[in-house]
Amino acid sequence: MINFKRGLNPLTPEEEKKLGEWWEEKYSKSKKSSDWSWKGKGKIIQSALLKCNNDHCAYCDCHLLKDDRGFEIDHFKPKTTFLLDAFTYSNLFPCCRECNKRGNKYDTLLLKPDETNFQFEEYFRYDSRTGKILPNELKSVENQKRAEITIKIFNLNSGSKPLNRFNAIKKEVAYNTPFDERPYRYGY
Ligand SMILES: [Zn+2]
Repeated sequence: MINFKRGLNPLTPEEEKKLGEWWEEKYSKSKKSSDWSWKGKGKIIQSALLKCNNDHCAYCDCHLLKDDRGFEIDHFKPKTTFLLDAFTYSNLFPCCRECNKRGNKYDTLLLKPDETNFQFEEYFRYDSRTGKILPNELKSVENQKRAEITIKIFNLNSGSKPLNRFNAIKKEVAYNTPFDERPYRYGY
């Protein structure tokens, strides 16, 4: 997870509001997340989000997002709890299928990549021996706690993630690829 610089919102404030109200009404009645639809706006939102983060997952930072990894749109505040924010651009992030498995898990201490002044090093460190992302022990207890919660909710060290990261970063050291095109933008 590195700082996310959000580009222009492809929706107008009126569209965000109207679509959020559509979802609130629909979900409040049925309580079924399968009723969800992007109402024809999925493609323009996805393309805006992928472009501003150069096809990286906003959470684990894997690159590039494509079919085998998925290129999904995540609701930072889950759409089944924060109904009116379902189409709010600042609540949406591009992410890989693995990170999107968090479902509706959320915590107010969860780190948001587009938070002002958010920096990877202020919260995390990359462990080059294991490929894991760990809370940065040199930072405050509060920062470490937020890092710990974020790692847990987005499953940043689950399954094959640490090994994939370890292999990709090790290999990348020899290549010197432009920063935004690296498989992960930390750990070098
Ligand atoms: Zn991811």
